[in-house]
Amino acid sequence: MRKKIVAGNWKMNLELNEGIALATEINQHFSTTPLNAKEVILCTPFIHLSMVSKLLDAPGLSAGAQNCNDHRSGAYTGEVSAAMIKSTGAANVIIGHSERRSYYGESDELLAAKTTEALHNGLRVIFCCGEVLAERESGIHFEVVGRQLEKGLFMLAEGEFKKCIIAYEPVWAIGTGVTASPAQAQEMHRFIRDLVEKRYGKAAAEETTILYGGSCKASNAAELFANPDVDGGLIGGASLVKEEFCNIVKAL
Ligand code: PEP
Repeated sequence: MRKKIVAGNWKMNLELNEGIALATEINQHFSTTPLNAKEVILCTPFIHLSMVSKLLDAPGLSAGAQNCNDHRSGAYTGEVSAAMIKSTGAANVIIGHSERRSYYGESDELLAAKTTEALHNGLRVIFCCGEVLAERESGIHFEVVGRQLEKGLFMLAEGEFKKCIIAYEPVWAIGTGVTASPAQAQEMHRFIRDLVEKRYGKAAAEETTILYGGSCKASNAAELFANPDVDGGLIGGASLVKEEFCNIVKAL
């Protein structure tokens, strides 16, 4: 059975005390409302990570980073390595978020190197893919997502690939309030699972957790999660509000 997961991406929000307060509230919630077989991941800014990782002790709850460097260590001013993330106690890292691809020019090749480095250090990778609006409108969205996965993720051997989660995030839905319809999400998730099957086989495809991200909130989560190939969500804005975030998890 593949894992059902909701991951929150706090992006560059919340000062340290605010982040700790939110993580504490979420941890308390899932201490009294067990997640059972589900998982919840809080992907925080780097400065929160050490404290948040240590305070999360509800079963099924873990912390993650939103990025890592592709090098092991050295003269890379301002950067944070996968080993450093791991040393905070965090277990996960987002790689290839569309904001990193577009604002920081992260290429498929760089993302492949980051993915490899993260796995080498024992982190689980949440690998993001997704097309921009113009690509969807011109009908090349499957091709774009296929290329992102081929170049950034499918270079992995099967054993390593199995430590990854895929997040499909149509860029036109991120932070816009426009959500992919349940049918659009299911269609792309099925396409992605078929690609995984071609590359790694049927068993691996069935085991791969594929999250949907893009303006997912408590009011639309249930219909998105009801799709057979949607295994949870990667949540931006709505992960900053405890009630909203916990209700999204409830919808799963
Ligand atoms: C995201 O940035 O990963 C995301 C899904 O953002 P939002 O939920 O705000 O659209």
